[in-house]
Amino acid sequence: MTPAFRERVVDLDAVAANVRRLRELVPTPHAMVVVKADAYGHGAVECARAALAGGADWLGVAEIAEGLALREAGIAAPVLAWLHDPDEDFVLAVRADIDLGLSSLAQLETAAAAGDGESPVAVQLKVETGLSRNGVAEQDWDAVFARALELEDAGRIVVRGIFSHLSNASPEDDLAAVAVYERALARAGAAGLRPELRHLAASAAALTLPEARYDLVRFGIAAYGLSPFGGRRGAELGLRPAMTVRGRVAAVRRVPAGKGVSYDYTYRTTEETTLVLVPLGYAEGVPRHASNRAPVSIGGRTFRISGRVAMDQFIVDVGDLEVQVGDEVVLFGDPTTGVPSADDWAEAADTINWEIVTRLGGRLSRTFVGGAE
Ligand SMILES: *Cc1c(COP(=O)(O)O)cnc(C)c1O
Repeated sequence: MTPAFRERVVDLDAVAANVRRLRELVPTPHAMVVVKADAYGHGAVECARAALAGGADWLGVAEIAEGLALREAGIAAPVLAWLHDPDEDFVLAVRADIDLGLSSLAQLETAAAAGDGESPVAVQLKVETGLSRNGVAEQDWDAVFARALELEDAGRIVVRGIFSHLSNASPEDDLAAVAVYERALARAGAAGLRPELRHLAASAAALTLPEARYDLVRFGIAAYGLSPFGGRRGAELGLRPAMTVRGRVAAVRRVPAGKGVSYDYTYRTTEETTLVLVPLGYAEGVPRHASNRAPVSIGGRTFRISGRVAMDQFIVDVGDLEVQVGDEVVLFGDPTTGVPSADDWAEAADTINWEIVTRLGGRLSRTFVGGAE
């Protein structure tokens, strides 16, 4: 397949296979695949379908709008949304049968008021267990749980789940959070709540902390074939990166020694050499911080970016390699095929693989392969 000028290729069979593999590794009764932020840049609707085909039975999103987009695409699977605009009235979410992750008494009242008066609104209470993001604080648990029971008894809501999220700071910190979460479950039980879904673990804890598995785990990064552990590759877990970022060589130039390359001349050639122009820049989400550092694959060999990443493009010094305009350049993909990985890019840009894939955009087109059912 001739690559587009600049594109991300997303292998939907890889997403389905990753989810299948994760279900084997972590056999909880339920598995959510998190498709927030356009499925970490991979395409929310397509990846949601692939994840469901691979055995996920829940989808997770941050915002309600992301859940509504899944519904508009005809996806009927259970969806949970957990980060809300302060003015959100929850009416559209309730109509679209999206479970509401709630973090305060005020949100609980708003959710109850959003019902149609016939069927109860499905909510999942988020409790704060250490991450200091959203979630009901421990001193408010009793009030929230008591009110939730009242609303449940009145038929206005059903508390389908109680959940939280871990810091991954260390195994000790995560176990401390598990203990806080256990306390929340006990207090909810004492208040009379009987949530069907208890969940705490995202990819990292799902894979390494059995104590955090409960009824459901929430897979984000691992579903896309990337490892949640810095330094441990997805392949070691039997996962395959779903995304390849590539483009076509836009220009080739033979230059003498001592030639300055890209803005600020942070790179100069040391001998006569060939410079290749790659048409992806920070507008596409290529981190400028990766200038002179990140690897790219051209003609089956791996080089480093030479000089600054600009808005639209960067340059690679390929020495004496024969390169033609139009040849394929791969920034990252599945490292078992010999190309750099998103992890290599994360390292080069002092960040994490989550950010590398999720921040992509701009003029990158997206092509899907696989996914036929
Ligand atoms: C983003 C997110 C996840 C997925 O995390 P990964 O580390 O990518 O698996 C799970 N749960 C919550 C609440 C999240 O915000």
